[in-house]
Amino acid sequence: MVTGRRKFLIRGGLLVDSKGVRRSDLLVEAGKIAACEKEIDPPSGAKVVDARGLVVSPGFVDLHTHLRQPGNEKSETISSGSRAGVSGGYTALLAMPNTTPTLDSPEVVSYVRQLAKEAVLDVYFAGAITKGRLGESLTEMSKMAELGIRLFTDDGAGVQNGQLMRRALEYAKGIGVTLAQHCEDLTLSNGGAMNEGAVSAVLGMKGIPNAAEDVMVARDIELVRLTGARLHLLHISTGRSAEMVKVAKADGLPVTAEVTPHHLVLSERRLADFNPIFKVNPPLRSDADRLALWGALGQGTFDAIATDHAPHHKEAKDTTLDQAAFGMIGLESALGAVLGELQRQLADKVVGEGGLSDEQLMNLVGLFTWRPARIAQIDDVHGGPLVVGRPANVAIFDPTFKWRLSETEIVSRSKNSPYFDTDLVGKVLYTFVNGDLKLREGELCL
Ligand SMILES: [Zn+2]
Repeated sequence: MVTGRRKFLIRGGLLVDSKGVRRSDLLVEAGKIAACEKEIDPPSGAKVVDARGLVVSPGFVDLHTHLRQPGNEKSETISSGSRAGVSGGYTALLAMPNTTPTLDSPEVVSYVRQLAKEAVLDVYFAGAITKGRLGESLTEMSKMAELGIRLFTDDGAGVQNGQLMRRALEYAKGIGVTLAQHCEDLTLSNGGAMNEGAVSAVLGMKGIPNAAEDVMVARDIELVRLTGARLHLLHISTGRSAEMVKVAKADGLPVTAEVTPHHLVLSERRLADFNPIFKVNPPLRSDADRLALWGALGQGTFDAIATDHAPHHKEAKDTTLDQAAFGMIGLESALGAVLGELQRQLADKVVGEGGLSDEQLMNLVGLFTWRPARIAQIDDVHGGPLVVGRPANVAIFDPTFKWRLSETEIVSRSKNSPYFDTDLVGKVLYTFVNGDLKLREGELCL
């Protein structure tokens, strides 16, 4: 990727990064942040970006993206998914390994790396823990780690066998990589299509109980206690699992966890008319769980908001609820969905910039940027801070902008968004990837 061909002066924005919140200008030059001061005179040839009233943050980092290439290019490609990412303020995506073929060998790693040259942002890859994600034998993690893979997961499935998971954790610890678990005991989820609860009972649909997730979270936390290995828990959806993560952290265990925008914003009630667009795994839970996730977020239990962007072409969703594929897209709507819900919750007691206090804004930006960057071990390049000499991976968003996502404007190759009738608040207007402007005034400029 050729970087930093132009010079940009970002003026008058509110800078939010791991260093804090302050008003400052930012000069981007030769792919890097060249100056960061209260007021900078425009150098000759610099394009000025007026960021007054806007938040200037590190570019977003998604720990959980399905790019579908190789194998399902009808739904998404690395290129189309990367464009959707830039539209949502992302400068780095961690692509999940559940492709065809599975990303489970050094050969496939080399192959997808070549494909990633088509991306308009930095794509990193997670490798599989077990061959073919079948949960039977471990992959050659060390050889993939030599090629730069830092996180391994069988996402789409959890590693069912506790003994194999223990061995995987020991192996991962030995080579300094992180395992990430999709927590689902298949004997408990048992072919369910939605949350087991009041709505599934009314619909007569087979449900997935909270326990399907909770028992694997419990098991894996104990395996971390046993092995001392680092574990990242993907898309936590229940209040009980969040509580266990909180306790594990208090015990000093090297456990991190993410939550998705859809589990924070939507509940099982959205499935009351059997609409497969809301079918996702783990399922949308009860409102009690949803609010418990917000409570955990407020207490710092979660380390990242991750999209679990899961594109599906029309036919995969245009069927009955029990037949439809699990998953929804999320890169373009992530900030707007989360901030929209947060604004609804804060409606009567808002303070500070964009209705949020500096502390709230910093917490939110951290969940999208420097905290996931650390988990992916890419914080040398992504996630900020916005200081001189760092690569210019920057997102600029309007925290008060109200909008609706429309199907025709979706950049992703798939249109399975659950937010067409939801008010979104907060929109990314500019994205710089390694100093190159990729999104301008909300429009891709590639
Ligand atoms: Zn998953």
